[in-house]
Amino acid sequence: MIKGGCLCGAVRYRLAKPALQTCLCHCVDCRKASGAPAMAWTFFHSGAMEWEKGMPKVLEFAQRERSFCGDCGTPLMFFDPALPHIFEVSTCSLDHPENHPPKDQCWLMDGIPWSQTIGGLPKYDEYSPIPD
Ligand SMILES: [Zn+2]
Ligand SMILES: [Zn+2]
Repeated sequence: MIKGGCLCGAVRYRLAKPALQTCLCHCVDCRKASGAPAMAWTFFHSGAMEWEKGMPKVLEFAQRERSFCGDCGTPLMFFDPALPHIFEVSTCSLDHPENHPPKDQCWLMDGIPWSQTIGGLPKYDEYSPIPD
């Protein structure tokens, strides 16, 4: 059983079926919705999701549904009615996102150029140094 939830714990879910696909999306809608340079998504067959605790808020935007915790804002789910047999769960809301690494990167036409070069940045286990 794959489980996940939001930052504050108000919304928890479980997925009864295995994942179909994973990706890292650079589209402008995902960037705005997450406040991050890209969003990792894990795809499941519709009907795999059960809400264990709480319910997300749903934003209908650009003919698609984005679900998020109404208390803390964590993005949780994406659904496109044009593809009713599948939906996407935000990979980093899973309890074990390490088990669902992205298999590809999509919507690079929207991507921020520096998002492709961050692998070469200096690395720190905790905080990075802040200049005075
Ligand atoms: Zn929350
Ligand atoms: Zn996207």
